[in-house]
Amino acid sequence: MSTMSPSLSVNLKAPNGKQWVQPTGLFINNEFVASTGGTITSIDPATEAEITTVQAASAEDVGKAVQAAHKALNEPSWKEMDPSERGALMTKLADLMEANKELFATIDAWDNGKPYLEALNNDLGEAVAVIRYYGGWADKIHGQTMNMGPKKFAYTLRQPIGVVGQIIPWNYPLSMATWKLGPALACGNTMVLKASEQTPLSILVLGQLIKEAGFPPGVVNFVNGYGKEAGSALANHPLVDKVAFTGSTATATQIMSTAAKSLKNITLETGGKSPLLVFADADMEQAVRWSHLGIMSNQGQICTATSRVMVQKDIYEEFISQFVAEVKRMSKVGHQWDDATYQGPQVTKQQYEKVLEYIKVGKSEGANVATGGKALKVREDGKGFYIAPTVFTDVKPDMRVWKEEIFGPVVAIAPFEGEADAVASANDSTYGLGAAVFTTNLERAHRVAAEIESGVVWVNSSQDCYPRVPFGGVKQSGIGREMGEAGLEAYSQIKSVLVNMGSKL
Ligand code: NAD
Repeated sequence: MSTMSPSLSVNLKAPNGKQWVQPTGLFINNEFVASTGGTITSIDPATEAEITTVQAASAEDVGKAVQAAHKALNEPSWKEMDPSERGALMTKLADLMEANKELFATIDAWDNGKPYLEALNNDLGEAVAVIRYYGGWADKIHGQTMNMGPKKFAYTLRQPIGVVGQIIPWNYPLSMATWKLGPALACGNTMVLKASEQTPLSILVLGQLIKEAGFPPGVVNFVNGYGKEAGSALANHPLVDKVAFTGSTATATQIMSTAAKSLKNITLETGGKSPLLVFADADMEQAVRWSHLGIMSNQGQICTATSRVMVQKDIYEEFISQFVAEVKRMSKVGHQWDDATYQGPQVTKQQYEKVLEYIKVGKSEGANVATGGKALKVREDGKGFYIAPTVFTDVKPDMRVWKEEIFGPVVAIAPFEGEADAVASANDSTYGLGAAVFTTNLERAHRVAAEIESGVVWVNSSQDCYPRVPFGGVKQSGIGREMGEAGLEAYSQIKSVLVNMGSKL
């Protein structure tokens, strides 16, 4: 961090030739403003070269953003806006995002290291769809009426919670932002969102589109900043009515204890060690392909990565042999801009070192390395945070690589005997985010889906995700749901109104 004098935009040209003017300030009240804090340096993880620096919010800056959101909440331009008009603004934002999707994909690929095509087809497709989906909800959020007999009348209003503080991670920078913004806007809240210090760029371009779409000033505010300073200031601020967080379980516990002091409403989406069960009756080819995608896509940096694969004993050896062949066939490791790249670099040096440390731990614990198990040199100069996709087999339940979230391209595979054994092993985790089951037996599929302790279960797939389907975790993987109609509950509250129409005392 430095305290160099602020410059609020910079001309950037990405390695794919895309050029744009990148805002670098804090987005408050629909304007980019200088911070009183330091800066964040954005690094290209493929080359370790600096992309640019952006302003980092101090606690004081976060306070200004919260004040802006607090003021906007009660301005007629937002509070009294017809919900259909609010939905139209969101649809306009989705259209603007779609028109700029190559730019957003370029920024997230450069800043995060993910393949450009993955950012374009996966992240951007989802980000646009989420805003569009929740734009459709804006004028369909209703209360209820209760039958009280002729002399009384009661109804409920579904109202916004107020000022929402939103804190997101770096693995899907823009789409994680939309998961938070979509339902919060549909319900009429105002917000301050803090992006991850590892990927601070795309959110600022989104700020430009928020203004262009016509949202009133102060409704949406974006601050970049460090977790300990800006994140904690946001979670602590007395005018913040709700904190919505996505990130690690360790940070979530801190946020929960901070929020407890003033009993703030919270939603937490945290880590996982999601199991994937392959039964002997599964379609082997499909099980292999989906389980590969479930752990190796997005560089393994997926909260719901199906990173614990359990395979029924009868087909264990055959599965391993086909899975390793699939890893070798699919996992072309390279830079973001090569269309053939399946796996880019890990997001930061810190994550790269953490994943390599886990690989060391797995080896020392006695897990068998079926493939990978090392860093990769992709460039001549040796720069870039590249790791070989790694498959540990014969992993035992007491090994750390079986129990702990690695958040990289590392899978742990173990055999199981029967269904009860598999479900017990799947549930033997402090986490409960995602799970997958591969079987052609319909009854077993539904039985196991019901038995597994997780917020999401995929039958014969992994990582399928849609704006209309709720998402979230149980146990230490989170509290509350995002996406779908359930996502609206996180951003609205029910008020009961009881009307006396003639009942005399
Ligand atoms: P992280 O917890 O380190 O950081 C997440 C965000 O929290 C960042 O914006 C960071 O600045 C902020 N932060 C850090 N300390 C803070 C504090 N004390 N107070 C307030 N804010 C603070 O997580 P990460 O490394 O950025 O992301 C990886 C983790 O996120 C993984 O565990 C992954 O499983 C999880 N994740 C979960 C989901 C989900 O939907 N469940 C989605 C994506 C990522």
